Amino acid sequence: VFITLEGGEGAGKSTQLRALAPVLTRMGYDVLTTREPGGSPAAEALRELLLFGGVTFSLRAEIMAHFAARCDHVDNVIRPAIEAGRIVLCDRFFDSTMAYQGYGQGHADPAVLALITRLSREVGLAPDLTILFEVAPAIGRRRIEARTAAITGGVAALDRYEQADPSFHLRVAEGFAAVASSEPGRFLRVSSDVDSPETITAAVASRIESFL
Ligand code: C5P
Repeated sequence: VFITLEGGEGAGKSTQLRALAPVLTRMGYDVLTTREPGGSPAAEALRELLLFGGVTFSLRAEIMAHFAARCDHVDNVIRPAIEAGRIVLCDRFFDSTMAYQGYGQGHADPAVLALITRLSREVGLAPDLTILFEVAPAIGRRRIEARTAAITGGVAALDRYEQADPSFHLRVAEGFAAVASSEPGRFLRVSSDVDSPETITAAVASRIESFL
């Protein structure tokens, strides 16, 4: 079973992934957690380049670099784990490409959206369930800044997407909402504006349990 967690910056998805894995393990499931971009050695190398490499790709090249990383991750990690009967929890997958490159960077250019859709089919592996963590972009931004300041004393460690202007993050949020509305059967939408992380983990874990 393949479950992905999606959301914009500061929506709490990585925190939830860390909290959910032990809960599902205690329920008796064999869980593998992984992330994108990354998750396999070659894909982690591409992650470094994409997020911190100090280079700018053309939009189509950026999309394909995310997919190159994804293919390696799927071939070497995700598919073998699913075939072994494990539950794979993945932090981001192709919906992030749609939201970030399709809507955020591409401003919903139909040709770009079509390219992403085509490449998504090429990967040949769609999530069974996607949990979309939604947060008002201003709240998400404050959380990211607070976290970064606590770690480094400044914003220097933000990756290049996190540094983008607020209107970019608004378009990303719209992109996620659009994808979720187009496939309501696959998505579980969770607002993380108000509830505590613990409340959200408990609610999501019980939804996953009933899904499984
Ligand atoms: O979830 P996390 O913050 O670790 O994601 C790493 C970064 O990669 C994020 O800033 C996210 O915006 C970016 N990203 C992206 N396009 C993707 C996947 C991730 O811009 N397809």
